[in-house]
Amino acid sequence: MKLLVEKVLQEGIVLSDQVLKVDSFLNHQMDPELMLEIGREFARLFAGESITKVLTIESSGIAPGIMTALALNVRLIFARKRKSLTLTEDIFVEKVYSYTKQESSEITVSRKFLEPGDRVLIVDDFLANGEAAFGLARIVEQAGAEVAGIGIVIEKAFQPGGRLLADAGYRVESLVRVASLANGTIELV
Ligand code: 5GP
Repeated sequence: MKLLVEKVLQEGIVLSDQVLKVDSFLNHQMDPELMLEIGREFARLFAGESITKVLTIESSGIAPGIMTALALNVRLIFARKRKSLTLTEDIFVEKVYSYTKQESSEITVSRKFLEPGDRVLIVDDFLANGEAAFGLARIVEQAGAEVAGIGIVIEKAFQPGGRLLADAGYRVESLVRVASLANGTIELV
């Protein structure tokens, strides 16, 4: 993913030793060509996993998620962070601590979109401590479905999420791994 690496290095803004801002191509303005490439790359990496659904979390996971679902020819579900008035049916709920907002919130998915037998690929924009990915994985497991893998656009490898998810037995594929954000500089693994 040469294009993604270039974008991260050229357009990423180091907000602190811990936080990278990528609002010019992923978190605010979005680059569709890049999203399409990301989707194709996740589809290639997880081609042998018989994926039946892609699951992400609103809002920044939706663009890479929908392109991955398109490339795999399956549906995308996004977990909602706020309860919607139209989400009246039975829901799966999990509590997730938000890394960027520094607060816990409940994420929800309608029970009608996940079922036993589904093999679910979880996709998200960033991986830090793994809270969002673990929350999504717990929803998949509540449904009696299986987590077939986790695809991350940017992993901050100096934070523990990647190791914790691997230790829990999940296959994690990150397209870019950031080794350090120290001294205002982005260093990749
Ligand atoms: P985790 O749940 O793994 O602790 O954190 C991942 C979630 O927090 C992602 O869904 C992402 O929205 C947000 N996040 C964590 N670290 C960063 C970061 O450095 N930059 C941005 N833009 N989002 C982040």
